[in-house]
Amino acid sequence: MARYDVLIVGAGHGGAQVAISLRQSKFEGSVALLGDEPDPPYERPPLSKEYFSGEKSFDRILIRPEKFWAERNIDLLLSRRVVSVDPASHSVTLGDGSTIDYGILVWATGGSPRQLICGGAELTGVHGVRTRADADRMLGELATTNRVVVIGGGYIGLEAAAVLSKFGKHVTVLEAMDRVLARVAGEPLSRFYEAEHRAHGVEIQLGAKVDCIVGENGRVTGVRMHDGTILPADMVIVGIGIIPAVEPLIAAGAAGGNGVDVDEFCRTTLPDVYAIGDCAMHANAFADGARIRLESVQNANDQATVVAKAITGNPAPYHAVPWFWSNQYDLRLQTVGLSIGFDTAIVRGDPATRSFSVIYLRDGQVLALDCVNATKDYVQGRALVTGKLAPSADDLANPEVALKSLIPA
Ligand SMILES: Cc1cc2nc3c(=O)[nH]c(=O)nc-3n(C[C@H](O)[C@H](O)[C@H](O)COP(=O)(O)OP(=O)(O)OC[C@H]3O[C@@H](n4cnc5c(N)ncnc54)[C@H](O)[C@@H]3O)c2cc1C
Repeated sequence: MARYDVLIVGAGHGGAQVAISLRQSKFEGSVALLGDEPDPPYERPPLSKEYFSGEKSFDRILIRPEKFWAERNIDLLLSRRVVSVDPASHSVTLGDGSTIDYGILVWATGGSPRQLICGGAELTGVHGVRTRADADRMLGELATTNRVVVIGGGYIGLEAAAVLSKFGKHVTVLEAMDRVLARVAGEPLSRFYEAEHRAHGVEIQLGAKVDCIVGENGRVTGVRMHDGTILPADMVIVGIGIIPAVEPLIAAGAAGGNGVDVDEFCRTTLPDVYAIGDCAMHANAFADGARIRLESVQNANDQATVVAKAITGNPAPYHAVPWFWSNQYDLRLQTVGLSIGFDTAIVRGDPATRSFSVIYLRDGQVLALDCVNATKDYVQGRALVTGKLAPSADDLANPEVALKSLIPA
């Protein structure tokens, strides 16, 4: 039976980074990176951006060149899925019934796209966007696709809509709330993106209530709304969030529910089991200590570093400032901090110029910035977030006042 000093389950962003950081820290024990996808670790964000649009080939989105893993003596165990964990014997069982023992287990499994619970969700032509296989399936159908309905006006849905509209497809975005990006951004940003998409020919329906997906011969033909209207569609993309992939850990007794609970060193409540990335429910200093899951490359990579440090006897708690990006059309959004709980959103610059920022405050203190084609604000605003600073609202709103000038020396 195989045994590894460190067994990493999930060969995505976080898992890959744990293995990389362990070897960078001169960890000499045996390391395996096990994942249920067939490909070596690759970047997920391009699946709705440069890979989907054809600007980047798959080789260009690999996290490391294929030979890297063997060169670093990291065993890549691909197309394998862990179905159960036995914390007492320190072993996991795979889908084929085989077992692997571990000294330390790192759980980095991300999540799977939340499925629609209405009828027709299983029809061919209905897609989630999480893996290379998902993107390839969509790309394979593009030649015969004219009309696309995107369910969910979050970042992934909007990015896919932007690419598809560039391809000349007729795209409709259905958002259940009264604005897009409602879960993650303030109203000025939502309204800006709605206007941009509409200007590019994307139809956006807010407060949309989907009844079911309709089809013929097993293939999607449209989306039926609550009022009975049918929106014709050759393809439906569902971007309504993820379900964290934590069942085996929870079944093994780990605390959690919507994710697995971890402490500041990313330790779960099971002995020698860490969890990181999209599936890790942690207390975040930039959310006032609230327990949240963060779905970002930053969080996966930084938590991976925390785990590698803990394993190599150099522990340091997780305290990284959150950041995120989204590319739609020629707009590059960069976010720093978390806007959760803001009471004021200041618009800095004129959205009509397509270069501006939204600065989120609570009790005058800067929580976060959303910067659209405004990299200078993003770079300089970071210190306002990390320093928990409270500059005057007039200065923040005035693009003539550099944000760095608001940082005390
Ligand atoms: C289309 C898209 C666009 C995105 N855009 C951005 C962006 O612009 N910026 C940003 O910061 N973030 C973005 N994200 C989010 C980012 O990709 C995730 O936050 C990041 O991938 C999380 O890393 P992770 O290691 O937690 O999980 P993942 O990278 O998802 O890796 C988890 C891996 O574990 C595998 N797995 C799950 N269960 C098991 C099991 N039981 N056994 C074996 N393997 C298992 C999964 O199949 C997967 O391969 C985007 C995500 C998507 C899908």
